[in-house]
Amino acid sequence: MGTYRIGVLLGDDIGPEIVPQAVAALTAAAEVTAGLELRFTDIPIGAAAYKASGYTLPPGTLEQMAKLDGWILGPLGHAAYPQEPKAINPHPIFRRHFDLYANIRPTRSLPGVKTLHEGVDLMMVRENNEGMQPDRNMHKGSGEFMPTPDMALSMRVITRHGSERIARAAFEVARARGKARAATGRTHPAGPRPRVTIIHKRTVFKLTCGLFVDTAREVAAEYPDVDTDEHQVDSFAMALTMKPQRFDTVVVTNMFGDILSDLAAALVGGLGLAPGLNAGDSYAMAQATHGSAPDIAGRNIANPYAIIISAQMLLDWLGRRHTDESAMSAAHKIEQAVHYIIAKNIARTPDIGGKATAEEFGRAVIQAMCTDKSPDGEPFLGPRG
Ligand code: ATP
Repeated sequence: MGTYRIGVLLGDDIGPEIVPQAVAALTAAAEVTAGLELRFTDIPIGAAAYKASGYTLPPGTLEQMAKLDGWILGPLGHAAYPQEPKAINPHPIFRRHFDLYANIRPTRSLPGVKTLHEGVDLMMVRENNEGMQPDRNMHKGSGEFMPTPDMALSMRVITRHGSERIARAAFEVARARGKARAATGRTHPAGPRPRVTIIHKRTVFKLTCGLFVDTAREVAAEYPDVDTDEHQVDSFAMALTMKPQRFDTVVVTNMFGDILSDLAAALVGGLGLAPGLNAGDSYAMAQATHGSAPDIAGRNIANPYAIIISAQMLLDWLGRRHTDESAMSAAHKIEQAVHYIIAKNIARTPDIGGKATAEEFGRAVIQAMCTDKSPDGEPFLGPRG
């Protein structure tokens, strides 16, 4: 019996509209899967926590989170927090404190959703805890500082350790994707073998990008079953925009990855379709790529796809970590149900051309999962992959 304790942090703006849909999907998946129990714990965070306690990250939160197996984090509207020490942005702290060094962001074309490209199946594996991010790349203090009123500096930190483990995470992801394709007879448009593309700008950042690429190449030698190639970040941005089907798994430093994953999301329908998992060796946190979208908050029209699939990735991660077939199978059911209702246009939110509310989308996912047959009579659970 796999029992997992999952923290639920609603976040701000659209967070309380979409995160409950992810919790409901996981709950339903556990109900239709033998041998799986999920226990959820609400953890106050962000603007609501600040209103209640005077802190966006109330004291004791990290200790409470450490007792759980993973968390679902809603988007945080930290740009709107008051400028004071008790109103910090919590998510970089989570990534750092729990050593969630790998940010895994899939970009997939969904059948029936009209977008700039079709047939995209890309996994971006972004280093999460060093690079240019000034709130994460220092032991103490900030990686950004201002020696004079007219000069501002940012530090970029690249370490062998950080590069090695993100490269290993990427090769593991590529290998697993290759195996899943082989098991189901699917092929990737990039070619028959799994491939990792290393992104850099070593012509300019000779030492930092040089260390990143050289370390990734050393890791590549341990994976003879996975092909490797390299791209300069600027030419990659062009290649990704023109022919994203060419890429399978991408390993990238923090800030390049931040920018490129939003670009990748745009190619297949926007941020509402951009999930993500922050993973370390001991914990993982579901967190969609998008922000708190204050422009559409309060209208129940945000797309819950990204956070539902992020939570599904968390469940799959727990299953793999504990070699627990029940968790992996429940994750597979969620993925199939979500993709089924979008493909069949049973529920789509306005950002992808539909009329469904976030709640209606969430209900449709559960309905698809809880019936053996789809509403039009076809079995909807396809092959795992
Ligand atoms: P951050 O810097 O915090 O990541 P951002 O500047 O990238 O945030 P978002 O809040 O992600 O901005 O919003 C960017 C655009 O995408 C907005 O127009 C927003 O409405 C839209 N958007 C974001 N998330 C969703 C979603 N889940 N469903 C529909 N539209 C979304």
